[in-house]
Formats: sequence, structure tokens, C-alpha cells
Amino acid sequence: MSPMELNRMMRIRAGFSNWIEIVSGQSNRRGSSTFGAMHLVDTHAHLYLPQFDEDREAMIQRAIEAGVEKIFLPNIDLDTIPLMHSLCDRFPQNCFPMMGLHPCDVNEDFQSVLAQMRLMFSERKYWAVGETGIDLYWDKTKLDLQIASFKIQIEWAKELSLPIVIHARESFDEIFSVLDEVNDERLTGVFHCFTGNEAQAKHIDGYGGFMFGFGGVLTHEKSGLSETVKQIQPEKIVLETDSPFLAPMPHRGKRNESAYVRIVVEKLATVLGRSIHDVESITTRNSERLFGF
Ligand SMILES: [Zn+2]
Repeated sequence: MSPMELNRMMRIRAGFSNWIEIVSGQSNRRGSSTFGAMHLVDTHAHLYLPQFDEDREAMIQRAIEAGVEKIFLPNIDLDTIPLMHSLCDRFPQNCFPMMGLHPCDVNEDFQSVLAQMRLMFSERKYWAVGETGIDLYWDKTKLDLQIASFKIQIEWAKELSLPIVIHARESFDEIFSVLDEVNDERLTGVFHCFTGNEAQAKHIDGYGGFMFGFGGVLTHEKSGLSETVKQIQPEKIVLETDSPFLAPMPHRGKRNESAYVRIVVEKLATVLGRSIHDVESITTRNSERLFGF
């Protein structure tokens, strides 16, 4: 592990002391100068999908105008890789790729798919491994394959000293049984679109290296997430959209886009009883610690 990677890992684990520095105004960390206030990060968006084919550039401009200047793109399968790369090449200051195989796209051939993906890490910079994880909402029959694929990608994250992006849908028990076995001090990452309860949040917190991604579901009142999020330390929270999916109110059911991180940050500020400015600074610094940018 390089000194830079070690530093990134330590910064995630040292989240609480950073938080104290930030709230007490003592922080003069790198983040405050390279990434000033009022800049938001969308830590999870699939902006290369066809839902944006008609207006992709205008949509990214809207995000930038809304202050969402950095957008992290998780990969899905082999087909999405060239689309993701070309978007990151078109917007090198704004779009950043991550490499992995989505649990819903794990099939019998997953080992050869993963072998092709693994080679790509030596060809360009990826900011995380993912998205991976387990999804039992759509298909329970491939659980064994999903677990095997998840475990391989966890090993990559450790070897490459990269954070891992975990997708959990109706699968916390299965994910915990994998992580309970393989978690160690090298593993960091994010539970993207966290929709678990307080006990599940505590379990994840116990791993030490994980953050929680919140997006549009926070604005869906029946989700109960506005209660859960209060139980999570603010220095472990990052913002995301999961665009084009999971749009916040009042756009629920329609296409989501990265500019809507602004809606999420406003909702989070209300729920936490803090200023929007504070929540922006805190979550942006958290994203910086997570990805090491
Ligand atoms: Zn996703």
C-alpha cells in the first residue's frame, strides 16, 4: 500500500476527529483549499446509460451549475465500459470512472467477465471497485454466483487499495455474512443508496472503513430513512443520486439526474437540523476521504 493510499484509509477511519475539526472551525486541511464550499459530489450516477442520450451534455451542465462538480460513475457490465470511458474522457474534470460488475448482471460466465475487468485496472485510473454487492430483489437463483463475484471484487479492492461500492437490496444478511468473514483494516468503501435500519447501520459502522450513501430515497417519507440517518455520524455520510434511477421528490418516478443532489442536501440539512452549507462541506470532505481525490 502506498503512503497516499494509507493516508486515504486513515482519513476514513479518523472521520470523527476530522468532524470535530470541521465543526470547531479549526480545519485547515487540504480539502478546504482544493475543494471550496458550495461544491457537491454525486458519488454514484450512471450517466452513460441511454436515458441520457438525448441531452447528456446539457444534463451535465445543469449539474455543474447546481454546484455538483464531481460525479463518480459506477460500472455495470462489459457493455457499459466504453460508454463510461467516453463520458469520462469528454468531462475529465467532472466525471470519474469506477470498475466492477453489478450483482444483477452476474451470470454463469462471471469469471471471464471479471478477468477482463481486472486487466483494465492497469490501463487507466479507476476511483473505486464497483458497483458490486448482492441483489435478491430481482433474482434469488443466482445468489451463489453473486457471492462469488462479490468476494472476488472485495479482493481487488484490498489488492489495489481502492474503496468498494456496495449495492445491497434485500440482502443485508447475505452481505454481512461475507463481510464478517473477509473485512479487515485494508477494506474501505460505501454502502451506496443505504436503505437499511439502525441495527444494520450499526453493524456496518462496526467494520470501520465504510461510509453510507444517501440519495433520493431520503426524500420518500415512507422510507423511514430520515430517522435512520440521524443515527449515523455525519462524517460517514456521502451524497449520491443513482441516476437515472431513484429520483427524489418531487421528481419521483421520473428520470433522476446529478443536479438533484441539491435536493438531497437540502433534505439532509433539514433532517439533521444543520445549515445547508455545513452539510455540503461535511459530505464533500467525506467524499474526498472516501475516494482520495
Ligand atoms: Zn448503481
